[in-house]
Amino acid sequence: MVKFCLQCKSAFWGGQYCPICPGEIELLDAALPENKKYLAELNIDVRPKYYARSSMLLSCFGFVMALPLGAFVFLRGLASSGNVELWAGIGIGTIVFISWGCWYLSHRLFDKQMEGVEVEDKEPQLD
Ligand SMILES: [Zn+2]
Repeated sequence: MVKFCLQCKSAFWGGQYCPICPGEIELLDAALPENKKYLAELNIDVRPKYYARSSMLLSCFGFVMALPLGAFVFLRGLASSGNVELWAGIGIGTIVFISWGCWYLSHRLFDKQMEGVEVEDKEPQLD
């Protein structure tokens, strides 16, 4: 859970109060929608981390679902005509197309979300 302090603009891994600022300055949760407007003001940019998550889910979904879908297409085609080479080609084509398509779409999604993020003057948190 990434939290940040509005006073010193630093980001931390959890905690209730800022360990840097004197007094009890409450840390804000970076994942909450009402705090998203402050993310651009922070010293360290945590946005790539959050944007990468949706892209990773999409590419993972593509790689996981491509094989069963390809096998399904191969078996259904085989049951209807018996042409092994044709349906093996179509099945492998389905696997390649879906996994490559999801990888490509996730890349596009990440680039689109990162459009408004200037990384020149900040250190992006990519780990
Ligand atoms: Zn602070």
